[in-house]
Amino acid sequence: MLAERKILALNLVSSPGSGKTSLLERTLKALGERVNMVLIAGDVQTENDAQRLIKAGGRIVRPIVTGGACHLDARMITKALEDIDLSAAELLFIENVGNLVCPSSYDLGEDMKVVLISTTEGDDKPLKYPSMFRRSSAFVINKIDLLGQSDFELARVKDNARQINGTLTTFELSCRTGEGLNGWYQWLEDQVALKKGRPPKQP
Ligand code: MG
Ligand code: ZN
Repeated sequence: MLAERKILALNLVSSPGSGKTSLLERTLKALGERVNMVLIAGDVQTENDAQRLIKAGGRIVRPIVTGGACHLDARMITKALEDIDLSAAELLFIENVGNLVCPSSYDLGEDMKVVLISTTEGDDKPLKYPSMFRRSSAFVINKIDLLGQSDFELARVKDNARQINGTLTTFELSCRTGEGLNGWYQWLEDQVALKKGRPPKQP
């Protein structure tokens, strides 16, 4: 269904607390007027993230409360999209449940998985969760404003990720300060254009 409508679908995966919702809030504020977005926020409990995304300007936001399940599956996505008018939609963001393990094995109909980690986590995460990094197309390193506050090293995390998957498109950014976000926005717009069969804008 998504392919037929040429809707770019991105499946955001990370540990709890890496900043998936913060990245989506920023993205909505920056691109919400230019790109028609639909958002699905998956959580084990509460619709807190969906509420945050609505506050950030999300016009079509659907919560999925899994009630204990530690991942989303395609059936849940289909159901969440059932009563939405998708005719104008260009970009579907799926915020998965915070978990780097089993969401790697579920195809939600996405074009790409985007894996996030933050500088408050271990820089060996790509090595510890190789299947997620192997199946992802983009890698977002969030909270770079906190670099130096812990033993996390940017060069090391990128090297670890490269060992697992040499084709990852990598972004270093801070959803708190806004640093590095322009590259992310540009990449998103390019991917939406490519999905529609249009060439991306020249930088
Ligand atoms: Mg969240
Ligand atoms: Zn699971």
